[in-house]
Amino acid sequence: MPKKCILILLDGLGDRSYEELGNQTPLQAARTPVLDKLAEMGANGLYHASFAGQALPSENAHFMMFGYDMADFPGRGVLEALGAGTELTPGDVAILTHFVSLSERDGYLVLEKRKPEMSENEISDLTHVVRDYENQDVSIDFTYTGGIRGILTLHGEVSRFITDTDPVQKGLPLAALKPWADHAHNPAAIRTADVLKEYLLQVYQRLKAHPVNLSKLRQGLMPVNGLVTQRAGQLGTPPRFSEKYGLRGLSISSGIVYWGLCAYIGMDYRRVTDTGHPGDDIAERLLMARKSLDDYDMIHIHTKTPDEAAHEKDPALKKSVIESLDRGIGQAIRVFTDDPQVFVIIASDHSTPSSGPLVHSGETVPLLFHGKGVRRDHVRRFDEISAGGGALGCVRGRELMYLMLNHLDRCKLHGLMDMPVDQPFWPGNYEPFRIRQIP
Ligand SMILES: [Zn+2]
Repeated sequence: MPKKCILILLDGLGDRSYEELGNQTPLQAARTPVLDKLAEMGANGLYHASFAGQALPSENAHFMMFGYDMADFPGRGVLEALGAGTELTPGDVAILTHFVSLSERDGYLVLEKRKPEMSENEISDLTHVVRDYENQDVSIDFTYTGGIRGILTLHGEVSRFITDTDPVQKGLPLAALKPWADHAHNPAAIRTADVLKEYLLQVYQRLKAHPVNLSKLRQGLMPVNGLVTQRAGQLGTPPRFSEKYGLRGLSISSGIVYWGLCAYIGMDYRRVTDTGHPGDDIAERLLMARKSLDDYDMIHIHTKTPDEAAHEKDPALKKSVIESLDRGIGQAIRVFTDDPQVFVIIASDHSTPSSGPLVHSGETVPLLFHGKGVRRDHVRRFDEISAGGGALGCVRGRELMYLMLNHLDRCKLHGLMDMPVDQPFWPGNYEPFRIRQIP
């Protein structure tokens, strides 16, 4: 049986059907001979990292896919902070933020533009204004993470249990900052919401009066005059991936949130960059994984490109990205599929619709297993519809990790306790039985 697993993760691959694609999904409409051949030689099914219908962001989906409980999830702010190399101490709150264009209406701030265009110089000038703030013994730092994005790190007696201000859709008012309902009387949550509100108001006043924005107004352009916030988090102490699943894991990925997630669960990662050629990039990542195969048991090879194409709300663009990925996978996949020691999984983390207002949607995604011993089904094509008729059925959440252990002959017979912790893998990293104490 295989000893190593390659998990090829096509981010945001699942989609809906579109009239312009003949009522097919972009994956169905795409010409994908390589993925179709793998589907024919393997076992197919559908996957959802949580439960069908729940729209998951990548970080939550990956966290559950890697077999973790959401109770241990630290929030995306923390993951991006770790991925960006920001120093976080236990108790700090990290919050995602980005620049936006706001207007005032009836005493409220309304989101006019969620992704304003800004030059590098403008971003640099405005970033100076939003750094370093202190109030009620709470300090706030802004760390720039690229594009129009950053992370706010709050130090002091603070809490992550506060609501977001980002309404996501333009034309909507910013949401009031409030403690979560079950933290309504938590002084730290009340303080955090209070201080953050004062900070965001100060940022708005300062940005509004900034020369960059005065100049934009003179040119008839929309000012970039605010920050919105999302997904506050705090560090936790999750078990390391290798201790939880007995596998040495590596991720080859291109986004700071994936690097941060790996740092958080103690998985190694390689930082790669996207070149604009999805196929070439995935081929290179597959070859990079091959070179690391001796040192790891599970390698996550990630591409964000189907998700990004879907966010452009252009089904044809997503279809062409998928076709490019299929060519790239075809260039390099045989180094794994010809090796009986390797079990290949092709999966996705969530669906990203190429149309409509949703960021992500809750439909399942296709899942494919290829390797020695895998049950071969009758599926001949790799897409959301064909996969539904496959032998894997619908796999959810951590079942993916358990199935991985199964196909590597590493799953523990339920009930055995070779370690004080009831881990899912076998054999455990147990302490050997001594015949005598060493003096
Ligand atoms: Zn994703």
